[in-house]
Amino acid sequence: MSYFSTRGNVCVTASQAILAGIASDGGLYVPAMYPLFSVRDLTDMIGMSYEERAIRVLNAYLEDYKPKDVAESVRAAYGGGHFNDPAIAPMKKLADNVYALELFHGPTLAFKDMALQLLPHLMRKAAKMNGEDREIAILVATSGDTGKAALEGFRNVEGTSCTVFYPSDGVSDIQRLQMTTTDGNNTHVIAVEGNFDDAQTGVKNLFGSESFVQRMHAEGRVLSSANSINFGRLVPQIIYYFSAYADLLATGAITPGDSINFVVPTGNFGDILAGYYARNMGLPVNKLICASNRNDVLTDFFASGTYDVRRMFYKTMSPSMDILVSSNLERLLFDSADRDGSLVSVWMKQLKESGSYCVGDQRREWLASMFAAGCADDRATSEEIRDVFQHTGYLMDPHTAVASRVLRDYMGRTGDERTAVIVSTASPYKFAPDVVAAIQGREAVRNLDAFACSDILQSLSGIPVPDQVARLREMPVIHRDVCARDEKSMAEAVFRAFAG
Ligand SMILES: *Cc1c(COP(=O)(O)O)cnc(C)c1O
Repeated sequence: MSYFSTRGNVCVTASQAILAGIASDGGLYVPAMYPLFSVRDLTDMIGMSYEERAIRVLNAYLEDYKPKDVAESVRAAYGGGHFNDPAIAPMKKLADNVYALELFHGPTLAFKDMALQLLPHLMRKAAKMNGEDREIAILVATSGDTGKAALEGFRNVEGTSCTVFYPSDGVSDIQRLQMTTTDGNNTHVIAVEGNFDDAQTGVKNLFGSESFVQRMHAEGRVLSSANSINFGRLVPQIIYYFSAYADLLATGAITPGDSINFVVPTGNFGDILAGYYARNMGLPVNKLICASNRNDVLTDFFASGTYDVRRMFYKTMSPSMDILVSSNLERLLFDSADRDGSLVSVWMKQLKESGSYCVGDQRREWLASMFAAGCADDRATSEEIRDVFQHTGYLMDPHTAVASRVLRDYMGRTGDERTAVIVSTASPYKFAPDVVAAIQGREAVRNLDAFACSDILQSLSGIPVPDQVARLREMPVIHRDVCARDEKSMAEAVFRAFAG
């Protein structure tokens, strides 16, 4: 199968799309078509392990990979004991018709692991297939979760290196420690004096800087991306939508062909886009519900058909969703434009130049046939964490709680009571102070650090503090470099890191 750019006619293979990350015209790679799965294919998945389900989905997309290479990559990602639940993506029942799909059992306790445990293996095979023998140098800008997940995925993977920029005052204490304590012979972590947008803009500029790219080449390195614009991040995320459906079939909660809803806490629109891909492949999904925090640009977009970033940016307790420009929406827009890359280019140009674009009523209606949307601010999110805990004993992290609250509103508004799955993206232990404060009040966490709050969560929930958090108390900080937010300083920091 070929892959096209959303902005034009670049056409490559799956392995080339994964190796490049982004298309040369600035667009994102999308598959030429959606492989179809029948109801029989879905019922076949009931008896399969997560690894086997993964192989079925990946083989449908990664046509130029040998099935043996796909199987090896899947085994390395999901079979190597890196996840602390044998189901990899277990489902928890919260109410008669509501389930949580837990995607936070990987090494970094956030859903980014689902893709970033696999991507390095797919990338290495892609390099081999395309005769690329330079080092694949991954550059990442992170608002917290992607950075650590990329570091864990690429750590000690031969032929690669991973350099992460994070905003010096934009991540939680646990997130910072997770990154700065990373060992391995190919990992670099650099704090940028600025916010996430500064880090992200800086990294984008490095990718576009001829002198930087030339110097990397001269050192035998080629740049690539592990951010969710890479198709290799998207395709592993399709798997768990199928897996959730198969698990519901297995318990008899639904019967083959029943349609269900998914609600997804959304930032860059990568996670929910994978759900849309699954729906196009024949998975019986009624609505994909896009949940935002106070940064509600997507809620407005689905309601009005106008995407408008000219608004305040808020820092919230769900930082991985604090984002105004959702990169992966471009892939959905491409389909809404009947795959007309020139129309997508026009919208993206309008967004860049005037801060907004409008897709028109007909396309808005088409989107509304598949997507619903809603938002919850920090107050509603805290209430949701507390209410769910008091009624069910289940602890949610703030991102998951945004989704849970938006689902509740959606059900009340529409009366749509069919089976719904909350895509649960982070462990509550990653955001322990906010979760404890939601349940016991702000006073209860005054002067407590993240570790003390984790201990409180353990006594509330009976779920032990994950090793990944407990360990951080003792681990030495290895990465201390800080740089200014201009491109030159960031470039120098990269070469300083490479020089060791
Ligand atoms: C990244 C992230 C999200 C948002 O996912 P997108 O694919 O960017 O929409 C939500 N929750 C958590 C915990 C995350 O790390």
